[in-house]
Amino acid sequence: MNHTKSEQLHEEALQHIVGGVNSPSRSYKAVGGGAPVVMARGKGAYFWDVDGNRYIDYLAAYGPIVTGHGHPHIAKAIAHAAETGVLFGTPTEHEITFAKMLKEAIPTLDKVRFNNSGTEAVMTCVRVARAFTGRTKIMKFAGCYHGHFDQVLVAAGSGPATLGTPDSAGVPTSVATEVITVPFNNVEAFDEAVTVWGDQLAGILIEPIVGNFGIVEPNPGFLEHVHAVAKEKGFLTIHDEVITAFRFHYGAAHTMLGLTPDLVAMGKVIGGGLPIGAYGGRKEVMDTVAPLGPAYQAGTMAGNPASMQAGIACLEVLKQPGIYDEMDRLGALLEQGILASAKKHGVTITLNRLKGAFAVYFTDEKVENYEQAENTDGETFGRFFKLLVSQGINLAPSKYEAWFLTTEHTEADVEETLKAVDYAFSK
Ligand code: PMP
Repeated sequence: MNHTKSEQLHEEALQHIVGGVNSPSRSYKAVGGGAPVVMARGKGAYFWDVDGNRYIDYLAAYGPIVTGHGHPHIAKAIAHAAETGVLFGTPTEHEITFAKMLKEAIPTLDKVRFNNSGTEAVMTCVRVARAFTGRTKIMKFAGCYHGHFDQVLVAAGSGPATLGTPDSAGVPTSVATEVITVPFNNVEAFDEAVTVWGDQLAGILIEPIVGNFGIVEPNPGFLEHVHAVAKEKGFLTIHDEVITAFRFHYGAAHTMLGLTPDLVAMGKVIGGGLPIGAYGGRKEVMDTVAPLGPAYQAGTMAGNPASMQAGIACLEVLKQPGIYDEMDRLGALLEQGILASAKKHGVTITLNRLKGAFAVYFTDEKVENYEQAENTDGETFGRFFKLLVSQGINLAPSKYEAWFLTTEHTEADVEETLKAVDYAFSK
């Protein structure tokens, strides 16, 4: 496969854009370097790079593109917005329609607010939790990504009950020490941290199904325990459903798990591919937000007509019967095929899957927390990734990022993918 033009463009990009990419995860640094493939256009489950190569896309733009590229129903909604005005700075009816759709699909949302990204949504949830409880400390789970604002770029201290340390240059230690990071799926570590900090906690950030070190489901009873303790200690449960909302079914992951969070942050899928964030939750908590309450949150682009109409159109597509079952069916075929191929070639992998999303880890261990995902073999993944790209399969250049199916993938795509995987494992 020829990548000459991608390589040339990457060289040029390096001179003008920091690192040649607009988000670090797009660089090939984690897979041994090289020029990332530069995409030109997408349609359905495929996209084409600037050299004319076609790929089956399992990146789905890190989740949002659940209905594939250029879905006609969403394209029509975006075209309508382009013609009738993309931004007014006033309320529109679209916002109300979309808010009602979200509330209908996710019953824990009494009220919602739209903004522009997952980061903004989570950032505001943190502020609202602090405003509502009058406390400042936040707990989160190691390896879960909640955006790029200071309070969530915090790594664990030296033990579960210790305060966090900055996970990026530029994050003040004073901010990091407001955050406690504990391992996912570990009741003892959580309890130990709550014993020390429980009375000072404003909230806990939870990815109900972890989508940031592959796909990791909570162990039975784990999140139920977290919720019960949060209630007892008076801190809020903030579900970060930026990846998970409308990924596994028409609604949120917490509904599938039978949990009732106080606040929910969303993004990605609900924008139909356009920039979006949203948060919502219990009425008493949401009423803390300005102009009703004292917690400030605003945005020039928030609730813009283009994102609203694209989001509405996306949910209309996802609401059709059988959509999620088909992604589940194709996901199962991929799972079986990848595992069989790995076995055939003596390659050791662990595969975690939930419906149309899965992760392939190069390890013989079970992966149920970040440490285990981190301990998987990155070098082997790097080779596997590049072999797959050479066969026209695109996924995230990260050893523990999920593969995402879309409504547009077909059984023929699965077969082509399994052939490519078999080739990669044979090398
Ligand atoms: N929360 C989660 C769970 C995410 O996966 C992400 C993005 N990967 C974010 C928040 C941040 O969203 P955004 O990139 O739209 O700011």
